[in-house]
Amino acid sequence: MTAPAVLDDPLTQAVVERLTRPDYPAFEAQLRSSGYCAQPVRLQGRVEVCDGHGHRRQVWTTDSEPDGLLRKACGNRREAVCGPCAERYRGDAWQLIVAGLRGGKGIPESVIGHPAVFATLTAPGFGPVHAHLLGPDGTPLRCRPRRDRPVCQHGNALSCSRIHGPDDPCLGEPLCPDCFDYDGAVIWNNLLGELWRRTMIHLPRRMAKLAGMTQKRLHELVRVSYVKVAEYQHRGLVHLHALVRLDKRMPAYRADELRAPAKRFTVQVLEHALRAAVAHVSVKVPDELGAGTIGWGKQLDVEQLCTDEQQRPRRAGYLAKYTTKSTEQAGGLLRRITHAEVEHVSVSEHNRRYLKTGFTLDDRVTAAIAADPLPAPPPSPPRPAPATFEDPNDLALRIARAMSTDERVTVRTHLGAEYVGRIVRRTPDGFMLDTGAVVAVAEVRAITAAPLQPPKRDKRDRRLAACAHTYGHRGHCLTKSRHYSVRFKDLRQAREQHVHEQLLTNGDQTQRDLAELAPEQRIGSFEFVGVGHLTTADALLAAQAAARAREHRELARQALYDHHNRRREDRCETPQDHPRPA
Ligand SMILES: [Zn+2]
Ligand SMILES: [Zn+2]
Ligand SMILES: [Zn+2]
Repeated sequence: MTAPAVLDDPLTQAVVERLTRPDYPAFEAQLRSSGYCAQPVRLQGRVEVCDGHGHRRQVWTTDSEPDGLLRKACGNRREAVCGPCAERYRGDAWQLIVAGLRGGKGIPESVIGHPAVFATLTAPGFGPVHAHLLGPDGTPLRCRPRRDRPVCQHGNALSCSRIHGPDDPCLGEPLCPDCFDYDGAVIWNNLLGELWRRTMIHLPRRMAKLAGMTQKRLHELVRVSYVKVAEYQHRGLVHLHALVRLDKRMPAYRADELRAPAKRFTVQVLEHALRAAVAHVSVKVPDELGAGTIGWGKQLDVEQLCTDEQQRPRRAGYLAKYTTKSTEQAGGLLRRITHAEVEHVSVSEHNRRYLKTGFTLDDRVTAAIAADPLPAPPPSPPRPAPATFEDPNDLALRIARAMSTDERVTVRTHLGAEYVGRIVRRTPDGFMLDTGAVVAVAEVRAITAAPLQPPKRDKRDRRLAACAHTYGHRGHCLTKSRHYSVRFKDLRQAREQHVHEQLLTNGDQTQRDLAELAPEQRIGSFEFVGVGHLTTADALLAAQAAARAREHRELARQALYDHHNRRREDRCETPQDHPRPA
């Protein structure tokens, strides 16, 4: 009997080969623990335990794993790079944003009563571009109709009577590339972080004015918290979506507590102050980049958030959606490039002009810095001599000296560990470094002066070449003020803790043994082997498993939604949309 024709297909053959291997369950477990990452990091190595007498015992090695490898999630936040990892990031972002709006994850639920606004801050115009426009009733409008059909000095029409669809590739492209101010656009993106910082400084000032009190008094009463997300528009400029919330100012030792501000600081006051701050704030453009000032665009949306339990999570979903995107919305690149690559990468001419502008502006800044270099730093004083365990008195003196002069030191221990930092305080049997490391004096082999740190980067260097692929934008996609909500790190730790508990109860013998070890008992040594799945068949299996996992999550979410609505009906309320991540 001959095999069915479909099995002749090499991909199907490879899939069947993988599925029928005896170690397939272990392979599937690796896919699951890497979150079905589309391009996992491949590692080789082992985990050992130290028995307290300096002897190591191997407890686990990748040699016993499928293909002798460990697959770890790449953890990339961009949808265009890795779907499953981006989805996880978006989920975390949603949790972080929503916790600051209605509580949860350690944030009190009373936060829902704080005045808060959802604002979209825009860039000014840098030249006419093709746009997808909708009228007030949702009907598509013509792009840029002009009766007098103006023509620019380069001979290009500055009008466009077409109706562009939402996916038209020409969206965001300038009507005349030579009229579009690429320099201005890149400089604006580059200074955006500073513009936002200034806006947040101006906001309380404006609030003080509206409330009829001094800035000092207002500072004692109110704290502004925010989370903001950057979104690239088709034309390549960045918009900011921000949630701004008012909290009561707490004394330093209770700074982590969240309380609602006094009643007089209403959401209306917040909106008016934000509008005033956005209208008036500006940032000086450095001389080498053409001087002058930049400010926000005319368009500003501010929506007051009510204390409705439904509206707030929807805004969080809207924000979280943008956190997995980058310049791909404007047709740009996902990676850093060099000047030499600009002419060869496959992007539209509009995007290439942006990339070129980044490098040209960077050259200008570099030339300006070279023409007027910073004065050389004063020569460093002679560095204190090392001290070793062989002379304990010398060692004790060295520690005291390093503490009194705030010196950065390198501490080597008998076990071969090395710590670099400043000694901040003594402990009963040793000392603590500013990095948080605690070292017992008995463990110390030697203390020497730490290697000199490289000179600080010139402040005038705006990193325009390194940010050419992000059109000058230097900031992170999502940033928040310290007290807005939990951190990504907290959410990740909570997830790791959950996985740890799962392994302790449901894992096999090896997994349980590993999970029971304290982190300091485990010595893991791993080597990077490569990125991505080994074969197309593996990638296909991972993608299918990711789709199934997604489906399961959707079903679970639906079940939760039904459950919530049933509970609401029981309480004779009208069912509404249950919040869910976008
Ligand atoms: Zn990934
Ligand atoms: Zn057009
Ligand atoms: Zn022109």
